[in-house]
Amino acid sequence: MNEVLKAENLQVFYVLETLGEKRIAKAVHGVNLQIPGNEVYGIAGESGCGKTTLLKVLFANIEPPLRAFEGRVYYCVNDKYIDAFSLSAREKRELRWTYISYIPQGSMSAFNPVKKLKVTFLDFLESHVRGKDREELLSLTNHHLKTLGLSPRILDAYPHQLSGGMRQRVAIALSTLLKPRIILADEPTTALDVVAQRAVLQLMQDVQKELQNTIVLVTHDMGIHANIATRMAIMYAGKIMEEGSTEDIFNHPLHPYTQYLIHSLPKIGDKTPRESAPGSPPSLVEPPPGCLFHPRCPQAFPLCSQEVPELVRVNIDHKVACFLRGNNRASCS
Ligand code: SF4
Repeated sequence: MNEVLKAENLQVFYVLETLGEKRIAKAVHGVNLQIPGNEVYGIAGESGCGKTTLLKVLFANIEPPLRAFEGRVYYCVNDKYIDAFSLSAREKRELRWTYISYIPQGSMSAFNPVKKLKVTFLDFLESHVRGKDREELLSLTNHHLKTLGLSPRILDAYPHQLSGGMRQRVAIALSTLLKPRIILADEPTTALDVVAQRAVLQLMQDVQKELQNTIVLVTHDMGIHANIATRMAIMYAGKIMEEGSTEDIFNHPLHPYTQYLIHSLPKIGDKTPRESAPGSPPSLVEPPPGCLFHPRCPQAFPLCSQEVPELVRVNIDHKVACFLRGNNRASCS
């Protein structure tokens, strides 16, 4: 089996009730994913497009007001696919951090602010590793930190005593301590300066190489995807609009939205104003009919506001949801 993680027809919405009025925000809407082992899979898109929600769903962490209306997430464990949504709380606890781990947005939330990092690491290990005393667990922690190029001396610090970049690297160390097969990383470099950003990205690449595992990386920063993702998906208003190898997406972007994302990136020496998508993303509560991008799309034609384009394969490793591409083309004649 090639895929370590699969998602089928995910329909996961926020059900919001204000003053007796129910509103449904379609945060993840008909998403299918097949993510192979041993790669960095990027998920890109503007803020509010559902990337973080999708990551939570892949972690099978669906808490109200979020509700799964349809669809499944499968993990490949010991060569068998297991349905992540049907796992009991105990089964989820057993898989979390050993099979699948999560690096949250903002590293501070990964730590207890009133505990030294040593205590956090040892408490974490004690709750997952049986048959080892604290000395052995400490030596395991020291070894892991050294493997990642971090000094074990940081264990004597409180979280607030570290810089944002160092804290994020320690959060990565914590989430990879038990060598998970899948790491879900939510905007791991947000709010870091470029130097700290580079250190965090390098660490993630080192971890992936060392463990030969899969990192699912969510960030709006296309430059980061260009640097470290092998494949990527472009998300817009809760749907995947394009998916393919990072090289293909950057060299031959097919969806008009992807083209805007790429053309808006700054280029050294090129002072012409960058063009971004006109308008703003649609409401997830009242999304437009047809192609969700049609109100902003300069290439839209009448069918775009009436029917939803499917995500179709245009070559062996490239899919796109646009009536102007692939088999969808037939629909516009
Ligand atoms: Fe634009 Fe139509 Fe393609 Fe949507 S389907 S991206 S509106 S051309």
